[in-house]
Amino acid sequence: MNKQERIKLILQYFEELFPHAGCELIYQKDYELVIAVMLSAQTTDESVNRVTEKLFFDYPTLVALDAAPLSEIENAIRTIGLFRNKAKNIKGITKKLLENFSGVVPADKNQLMTLPGVGNKSANVIRAEIFHIPEIPVDTHVHRVSKRLNLVKMDDDVFVTEKKLRGLIPKDLYIKSHHQFIHFGRYFCKARAPQCTQCHLRSICKEPNKNL
Ligand code: SF4
Repeated sequence: MNKQERIKLILQYFEELFPHAGCELIYQKDYELVIAVMLSAQTTDESVNRVTEKLFFDYPTLVALDAAPLSEIENAIRTIGLFRNKAKNIKGITKKLLENFSGVVPADKNQLMTLPGVGNKSANVIRAEIFHIPEIPVDTHVHRVSKRLNLVKMDDDVFVTEKKLRGLIPKDLYIKSHHQFIHFGRYFCKARAPQCTQCHLRSICKEPNKNL
C-alpha cells in the first residue's frame, strides 16, 4: 500500500471515530484563543480550560489583562506547569497586541510569531482556528500518530512532518484532519497505552503491539 492509499484509509477511519473533532480549548474572543494556545504548551487543554474560565472572567478585556499585576496573573494560572513563564507571556501578548496590532489578533504568521510564547505550531493553530486558513499544526499527538502510521520517518522532526502531511492530506481537509489526528492520539493511540487490539489500522502500523 502506498502513502496515498494509506492516508485515505487513515482519514476514513478517523472520520468514523471522530466525525466531529474540533478545538477543545474554550474561548470567546480571538485573543483568548491566543492566550489559551500559549498556555497549552506541555499541559492538557483540560487544565488550561480550568484556569482560563476564571482568568477571562476576572480580566474580561485585553486592557484589563494588561493592567493586572504579574503576581495576580501568576496566581490565576498557578495550577498549570511553567506558570511563571506563561504569566509573563500573557502580559507580553496583551501588551504587544494592544501596542503593535491595535488589539486585533493578526492573521499573518510572522506577525503572530512575534507574540511571546507563540511559535510555529501555535501560529498554525491560531490561523486555522480563527481565520480558517488551511494549516496542519503538528503537536505531540500528530507527530506520534504520523510516525506510528508510517506517514513520516521515526526521526523526522515536526517541521518535516508538517511538510509531509501537507503533501499527503487534501488541502480542504487540513484543519479537520489535524483535529482528528489529535483526537486519535489523545483518546485512542495514546503514547503509553494505545488501544491496539481495537485499532483498524494495525495492518499499516509500525508499532501495532504497544499494549500487548
Ligand atoms: S495499532 Fe496501536 S499504535 Fe498502531 S495506530 Fe493503532 S492504536 Fe496506534
